[in-house]
Amino acid sequence: MNARVFSQNIENWYLTNKRDLPWRQNPQPYRVWLAEIVFQQTQIAQGLTYYQRLLNAFPTLQSLANAEQDEVLKLWEGLGYYSRARNLHRAAQILNEAGHFPISAAEWLKLPGVGPYTAAAIASVCYGECIACVDGNVMRVIARTHFISDDIRKSSVVKQIQSLVNELVTHADDPGNFNQGLMELGATICKPKSPQCNRCPLQNQCTFYHSDALPGSVPFKSKPQKRKERHLHFFYASQSKDVFLHKRKEDDIWGGLYVLPLMESTDKEWPDNNRGYKLIKKNTHLLTHQKIHYYIWDVVSWSDSPVALDNFSRFIKEDQLPALPRPLKQFLEEQFV
Ligand code: SF4
Repeated sequence: MNARVFSQNIENWYLTNKRDLPWRQNPQPYRVWLAEIVFQQTQIAQGLTYYQRLLNAFPTLQSLANAEQDEVLKLWEGLGYYSRARNLHRAAQILNEAGHFPISAAEWLKLPGVGPYTAAAIASVCYGECIACVDGNVMRVIARTHFISDDIRKSSVVKQIQSLVNELVTHADDPGNFNQGLMELGATICKPKSPQCNRCPLQNQCTFYHSDALPGSVPFKSKPQKRKERHLHFFYASQSKDVFLHKRKEDDIWGGLYVLPLMESTDKEWPDNNRGYKLIKKNTHLLTHQKIHYYIWDVVSWSDSPVALDNFSRFIKEDQLPALPRPLKQFLEEQFV
């Protein structure tokens, strides 16, 4: 495979086929960094509203750094992986204090929430650094063009693909365009189940295309580990339309968000369920690595509550609710109709 031809095909294709995305019109570090954080683990269609909402609320690094964490989390509400929002906010404060953006991937990597992929994306797009970005889309394209059929979850396979892209990017005229092109090709053409090979600029060079392999057979991805199951019992107390909420610590799911005070049990049902509380909702909520069984109990008064409360708990008005996990937001919306 000719690496120079491969890289040029990607760059040329990208320049004429790239999607019109807001940060591409003006690829300043702040906008590109914000986009890279929002779109980690998030599809473009789902994240665009969030990106725009955050940019409108915080048009500059300084405005983001000076915001309250609760404000950032509220704008992030519903997008999941809340550590991204907390790290974005922390990193903004560090950058604002430093007074400038880093210009190399190695420097970006020192910031909270910035991993090798994000650092490489920002440094190549904003500063032209010759460094490879490898995300899930790139993994798929390279696995197919180079016919790598081993399990894509294996670290040896990830290393093999990273090393191939490290080599390919050195043949690019513009590493930022090459990286974005390879990711874009994976996202829009070389899709997981139905690659559109007849529209692909790599068709001539693609080993998968010229093989008899069934569509979808490469890359091979083993099944993920079973989700951990948890049982969370929330206690609902309201006063007129104020609701008692508790801000979560950052060392667990939904860190920094507000929840109804809660207890966790190992059993399917909360063992202490004859205190007179009424079970008003029971459901499950899936996170990437956890299956949450949640139960919402109506309590009469907090003197009756089984949960020890602290300075992070208080009554909050219905129209001033802070960021909440999706199941609780939905529950409270049902209560306040
Ligand atoms: S030719 Fe088909 S399988 Fe190969 S990279 Fe292009 S879209 Fe993917």
